[in-house]
Amino acid sequence: MTRVRRHKDGYIDQIACGVCGAVIATFGPSGPEPYSAREVEPGKTVYVFPGVLQRNNLYTEVTLRMDNGDRHVTHICTRCAVEQRRNLAVLQGLHDGDIEDLRQAEGMAAPSVRRLKMRRVVGVEE
Ligand SMILES: [Zn+2]
Repeated sequence: MTRVRRHKDGYIDQIACGVCGAVIATFGPSGPEPYSAREVEPGKTVYVFPGVLQRNNLYTEVTLRMDNGDRHVTHICTRCAVEQRRNLAVLQGLHDGDIEDLRQAEGMAAPSVRRLKMRRVVGVEE
């Protein structure tokens, strides 16, 4: 399941819960004006669409405790945060999905990806 959806221009335009797929954040206008236009040279106008990624009321985060002592913060919906709190297999899937997102978005080096993927989730920070 794709959790982080990117617009063709590269910015994140939607985040879904990695467990159930509920949308927990969407990109929307940051103010009352839908866009601004500026003529940068005669006949050439640049349109700017101001926006931010807005979390909805289902959005929350959990801090995963890893077997090597690391902490990993991940986003999830409020319902799954409660229901899946002790499900280490599901939490491991969230962690691994985040690492995969990072690898794709940041072009992280293979050794770093391998090291991060070796970490095991041992619980959730209370
Ligand atoms: Zn969920």
